Formats: sequence, structure tokens, C-alpha cells
Amino acid sequence: MTKHTVTLIPGDGTGPEITAVVQKVIDATGVAIQWDVVEAGADVVQKYGTPLPDSVLASIRKNKVALKGPLTTPIGTGFRSVNVALRKELELFACLRPCRTYKGVRSRFQNIDLVVVRENMEDLYAGVEFAPGSKEADDIIALAKNKIIPGSAISIKPISKIGTERIVRFAFDYAVKHNRKKVTAVTKANIMKFTDGLFLETAREVAARYKGRIDYEERLVDNMCMQLVQKPELYDVLVLPNLYGDIVSDLCAGLIGGLGIAPGANHGTDTALFEAVHGSAPKYKGLNKVNPTAVLLSAVLMLDHLGETDAARRMEKAVSDVIAEGKSVTYDLKPSPDDPSAVGTSQMGDAIIQKIRKGS
Ligand code: NAD
Repeated sequence: MTKHTVTLIPGDGTGPEITAVVQKVIDATGVAIQWDVVEAGADVVQKYGTPLPDSVLASIRKNKVALKGPLTTPIGTGFRSVNVALRKELELFACLRPCRTYKGVRSRFQNIDLVVVRENMEDLYAGVEFAPGSKEADDIIALAKNKIIPGSAISIKPISKIGTERIVRFAFDYAVKHNRKKVTAVTKANIMKFTDGLFLETAREVAARYKGRIDYEERLVDNMCMQLVQKPELYDVLVLPNLYGDIVSDLCAGLIGGLGIAPGANHGTDTALFEAVHGSAPKYKGLNKVNPTAVLLSAVLMLDHLGETDAARRMEKAVSDVIAEGKSVTYDLKPSPDDPSAVGTSQMGDAIIQKIRKGS
């Protein structure tokens, strides 16, 4: 049997309790994984002097595949997001977020099957920011000739042709591989004529190479948000610059019933890191309360990536069957969040394991 070596970052907040469940569930599928467990995030700053020790990057570079629990980022001050730093350091340029409805999940929408492909390296996430009153901010304010109020803080939005080319190509290649029909490029190119304009122009060039195989269309991000809540069935694969991708991912997670069930993957040229869309939900830390599904479904994407497609399908079906039954599920999947029949993270995991063992 193939033995895969995968880096595991348990994360913080509710991350460790969720990833413990995921390890057990993968074990039950029979796929042999040797986990290289490494620590990152706020909890390790005292020990290593940084939230992202070199050993974490070294492990992922060696193994080429990683599964990550969520990591907390301090808001406004403190270190920059480790989640963003990991994507940048490893050049994981494509963030893939499939959003589909599972039977039994309460949502206003049925039959959603969307895939969000978010650019991961550029845009306002590039981390090029200047504090109010800094020389750099003042120089830019002078350059902008009365367009910026003096004393403003500045964030730079870089978008490159190379970066756009590879993300749009990733979206089209994904569409071809997964028998999808259409890719929609989402921008605000009517306002940001240079940055989003370049994204759109490049998307058109790439789309032309797939003509006759995959349909292509364009939407402005504000209109896209409205359309997604009015007629999500019209859309298939969406490709977006980083910030819009982040926001629209959460919107799509909302369409399918919430963050508890929205998986994700970050792909580079030869390295991939799998993680849920949701964060560390710190208020539930240690309470064995939150839904493990999003990380479980991220692990399903990982099994597919490792070529373990049979195990991936069995695991996905077991998760989907437990959700459809609605008995051994966490609070967020019950009709009301204080439903006393809700089970904990680990009990939901056990129910999924039972299904896998029974050949669900
Ligand atoms: P969050 O996703 O952690 O939680 C928001 C709310 O969503 C929770 O309070 C909870 O009600 C619900 N929720 C989230 N995950 C759930 C789950 N698995 N099951 C059931 N309900 C769930 O978002 P936040 O509170 O904005 O962020 C908390 C921290 O996580 C922040 O520091 C943020 O920066 C970080 N974060 C990390 C990642 C990542 O690791 N990739 C992603 C997003 C946010």
C-alpha cells in the first residue's frame, strides 16, 4: 500500500480538535499517511520567536502536501497572517473552493455546485501597506496630486499579467479536468481600469485558448454578488483576484449552509496545502463543539490530489450520509443552534468513521 507523507499543521483555536478527528477519519479509509506534525501560529511565537518557523516551510517543501487547521491572526496589530504568509512563501497561487449543497444542510438554496478559484498572491493581500504619516505614504500622497487626503494610510493593489495568466489558466484547466462548462471572470474593471483591467484583458486572452471547450463570461463583482444570491444556478467556475475571491468565497459558503461545511485547497506548481474556508472560531476552543466537515472535505480534496480517489469518494459519501441523516451532527447543522441533540466534533467524526467501516 502506498504510504504518503503529509505535513500536518493542527492550527490553533478549534483547529487541533478538528484535525485530530480528520486524522482518525482518514485512518478509517485505509489510506496510510505518515503525518509530519509541525506547529505554527500565535501559540508558538514564544517558543520559536516567530509564528511561522522555518521548520514548517521546510516540512511542506519536502512533502509537497500539507493539511492545515485554521490559525488565528491578530486584527489590526501584531504579526501578519500566517495563512497568507504560507501561501506566499510556498507560492501557492491558486485557492480552490468548491461549494456544493449537501442534503440535510439547512440553506435557502438547493443544488448549488459552484467552484471559486481565487488568486492567492497579489492584489491588496500583497502586504504592501504604509502607515499614516510615514514617508512612503506621504510620497504616494504627493504623487497622487490631491486625490488622497493628507495623513491617509495606504495599501497598494498590485496585479500582474503573469499572476493573472496562471490563475485563469488554473481555472480553465480545472474546468476541463472536472467536466465543467463555464468560467466567469469577476472584476471591478470599470473602476480599477489598470489593475482589474489587466486581469480582465488577460482572462480574455486565456479564455480564447479554451474556446469551443469551456464557455467564458465576465461579471462585475458587485453585480456578481447579487446574481449569486438571486440565481446561483447560472454559474459554474468563478475566477477572481485575491480580495474579491476572499469575499465571494464566504458568500458562496453562505449559499451552501455556512462556513462549517466549506472546504478549500491552495495549489502551487508542485505543492498543495488543504484547509477549510473558516477560521479558528476561538470562542469554541476546547469545547468539542464545532463542525469538522469543512476540514474533512478539504481532506477529501487532498486524497484526490494524492491519487486516492476511491478513499476520497468513500469518505465524502460517509460525511454526506451523516449530514443527510442529521442525527450525529454538530450544533450548526441542527434546526436550532441550541438543539440538545447536537453532538460534538469528535462524536460526529465517530459517526462518519462508522459509516466508512460499514461501507456507507
Ligand atoms: P471563524 O471562521 O473562525 O468563525 C466565525 C464564526 O463562524 C464562528 O464564531 C462560528 O459561529 C462559525 N464557525 C466557524 N467555523 C465553524 C465550524 N467549523 N463549525 C461551526 N461553526 C463554525 O471567523 P473569525 O471569527 O472571523 O476568525 C477567527 C480567527 O480565524 C481570526 O483570527 C481569523 O484571522 C482566523 N482565520 C483563519 C483562517 C485560516 O486559517 N485559513 C481563515 C479565516 C479566518
